Amino acid sequence: MSAATTRSRTPDRLCAEAVDLARAAAEEAAAPGVVGEHEGMVSEGDRVVTHFFGCMEPGYRGWRWAVTVARASRAKIVTVDESVLLPGPDAVLAPEWVPWSERLRPGDMGPGDLLPTDAEDLRLEPGFIGDEEPPPNSAVSEEMAELVEAEDAEVTSGAPADLSVVPARGTIAAVAEELGLRRARVLSRYGLHIAADRWEEGFGAKTPMAQAAPATCMSCGFLARIGGSLGQAFGVCANEYSPADGHVVSLGYGCGGHSEAAVMPKPPQPAPPVIDETRVDPFPLRPAPDSGSVPAAEDEASAELGHS
Ligand code: SF4
Repeated sequence: MSAATTRSRTPDRLCAEAVDLARAAAEEAAAPGVVGEHEGMVSEGDRVVTHFFGCMEPGYRGWRWAVTVARASRAKIVTVDESVLLPGPDAVLAPEWVPWSERLRPGDMGPGDLLPTDAEDLRLEPGFIGDEEPPPNSAVSEEMAELVEAEDAEVTSGAPADLSVVPARGTIAAVAEELGLRRARVLSRYGLHIAADRWEEGFGAKTPMAQAAPATCMSCGFLARIGGSLGQAFGVCANEYSPADGHVVSLGYGCGGHSEAAVMPKPPQPAPPVIDETRVDPFPLRPAPDSGSVPAAEDEASAELGHS
């Protein structure tokens, strides 16, 4: 028997000795040959002990057969209460189930995927679509109907695609259009904040890239400004060589690709050729067979040629 793991309570002696009985019960419950070594016991109470046996099933690494045995007061016979397969401290377990909406991570969405937004999505709040009826499949169509009613606007049927592009001048819809609010829902203050936090984290002033940058995006010619309140703190990088190309960057971000960071060095100019017309350099037609030196005859011939 391996060293027993016990609680503070001392296991009942007869129950502790009933290892063979417990093993037989485990083998009866398990498939043949999958009950391993006795791995210990715990006292569950007066005259109640649980014996543990290793599980040899390949798919149940770290699991143990737990067989609880007991005996009645003043009885000498130990009986089996139950046998069950339980995960041990190092057992391989399936991860806890998490709803898809909580498992979803940025970048998980692929082409053709649709990501519905909750009607109570805190990142969104009602926009203003003027005198049009909200789309029938909109999660906020009722709220929008109330809003339209509150504004005493005329309600007509129609899908978003049928919305008039230019509202009549002087109407609330015209003002909403100008403010960029003429949509079924627009970003709430909370939605703006969490977006700003997220962008700041990815391409913000505190990133190692920005810390090592020669200057910030604020002064970079590659920065494309964006409108709205987020435009006060963010823009889009349009430098294809920057790691942030195509991303929203904080104005405090920066990278080595900053437009004014470095001036392209001029290619080195080769030295002008030196022409010495006072002498002729002898060149052998072929190297000497062994030494690599110029053959005497050729050398002489060349010398003659040079001096002729
Ligand atoms: S190139 Fe660098 S410094 Fe310029 S906008 Fe892009 S990230 Fe900012």
